[in-house]
Amino acid sequence: MPFPSDSDPDLEIEGLLAAEFERQTTGIQLIASENFTSPAVIRAMGSVLTNKYSEGYPGKRYYGGNAVIDGVEAVAIERARSLFGAEHANVQPHSGANANMCVYQALLQPGDTVLGLSLDHGGHLTHGSPVNASGLQYHFVAYKVSGGDERIDMDQVRDLALEHRPKLIVAGTTSYPRRLEPEAFRSVADEVGALLMFDAAHIAGLIVGGAHPDPVPHADVVTFTTHKTLRGPRGGAIVCREEHAKAIDKAVFPGWQGGPLEHVIAAKAIAFREAADPAFSKYAHQIVANASALAKALADEGFRLVSGGTDNHMMVVDLRAFDDDLTGKVAQLTLDEAGITLNKNTVPDDPRSPFVTSGLRIGTPSVTTQGMAEGEMSTVAGLIARALRGRDDAGQLAAIREEVRTLVTAFPAYPNGDPHLATAHA
Ligand SMILES: *Cc1c(COP(=O)(O)O)cnc(C)c1O
Repeated sequence: MPFPSDSDPDLEIEGLLAAEFERQTTGIQLIASENFTSPAVIRAMGSVLTNKYSEGYPGKRYYGGNAVIDGVEAVAIERARSLFGAEHANVQPHSGANANMCVYQALLQPGDTVLGLSLDHGGHLTHGSPVNASGLQYHFVAYKVSGGDERIDMDQVRDLALEHRPKLIVAGTTSYPRRLEPEAFRSVADEVGALLMFDAAHIAGLIVGGAHPDPVPHADVVTFTTHKTLRGPRGGAIVCREEHAKAIDKAVFPGWQGGPLEHVIAAKAIAFREAADPAFSKYAHQIVANASALAKALADEGFRLVSGGTDNHMMVVDLRAFDDDLTGKVAQLTLDEAGITLNKNTVPDDPRSPFVTSGLRIGTPSVTTQGMAEGEMSTVAGLIARALRGRDDAGQLAAIREEVRTLVTAFPAYPNGDPHLATAHA
């Protein structure tokens, strides 16, 4: 039977794909958890590997016909192990959230005590939020950033660990602009006999690029996403010590997931190779340099940076010093009008709700992939400040939208056009 069409039959989705390519490539992308992935990665995701069922692991599959798939997944595993210097890797988690839940299932019993960073202080939903399965199944105790310098306070982590005796300590953040010290978490874990999971979802690219401390020697398990600073396809992965390998693999399949997404695993393998290239280390360091430059330029425009600045790829801006009436929600909407995409974010102890907020989270992975450097970061800060000051002036926002378009078209993420339409090796 022929397929009804070689494109989306009424072209509705094709049109939306083109519109999204246009949006991504004519605006400034400052969402800290996003990036532009390579054409090779995008092609792998659009491959026939999506047709194959391959429940199990290389050499141990439930269905026939998996010899080639085994090759793909074995390469991905080997590249992940080598990139992270890890004893074991599982590349099947469909997402970072899944990776975390799999680790909990591998290492914990329901009801066990776990220490994690509070969501409203920069942690992730899967670190014990009451609306997430992690918080429903396990007894999470939250540590917070300190009231003074707005940084994670290792003395508080230690006090809570001594008081609550967790079975697992989770280190890792979603909206925290400072460096994490895996060694300090390890020493607290050792003191109370806890396991240590390091959730490197955001900073995996900074770690493998040598721009941030390496958690692998210190953590029992490291989870990460492949689509944030690591710049690969949307997905998750786990690396761990050999002693946990069996439990982790079992928790991923059959514990949490069914058939793996081997087209995405092929794309992960490509991304791991790209991240092992010396050029990626330069990229990781430039992400951090750009974030510092952007934070400094925003401070010069009158914004307050949570914790006073950034050591990583992101910053959290407290809007109250700039304009006490301006909420994160309105700022996000205004900047969207101007072609600048970022997200509202709570600041520590935010008096406003998570749907309104007093802050913004801003990240530099995407603009750095495009080749922007410190000079462009001052320009971007100026555009943000002008748009927010002129937020009631539609003409002003339209003019800024044009400046944004001019800036980003000089730094194309995809100089050869949409990789989804381009032919391989063109
Ligand atoms: C993004 C993130 C995740 C979840 O990743 P998804 O792929 O969105 O499920 C988990 N942990 C942290 C710290 C994150 O920032």
